[in-house]
Amino acid sequence: MRGTANQFGLSFLCEEDYMYNKIVRPSLKTKKWEKFRDKILRKYNYLCQESLRYGISEPAEMVHHIFPVSEYPELEFQEWNCLPLTNKRHNTFHDRKNDKVIGQGIFWQKKRKREFLNFYKNQKNEIL
Ligand SMILES: [Zn+2]
Repeated sequence: MRGTANQFGLSFLCEEDYMYNKIVRPSLKTKKWEKFRDKILRKYNYLCQESLRYGISEPAEMVHHIFPVSEYPELEFQEWNCLPLTNKRHNTFHDRKNDKVIGQGIFWQKKRKREFLNFYKNQKNEIL
């Protein structure tokens, strides 16, 4: 069902984002996201970053949130939290049943752990 987002013009969204969007955030088609998405794709030369790990150059088909927006809405527009992927690779990042991040998705969460911790450390400083 990963392809269903296409009919809504949301093919670049993570499926979990799409689901979340449908319920909570009806604004994912916004210019802000489109611009941000383009920036991310450009930054990574429009290539699937998971494929690159295996030395394969494949055009990215969507942008995955390493830490899902459904759990971390504040990380939606953090560049380090976004990862261009092919749909095929993306399918290995989520459990099909509940969309939980699994497998290679966990690898990238570990890879971005420092950015993740820094983000909240800095945020706490700003709030306090
Ligand atoms: Zn995803």
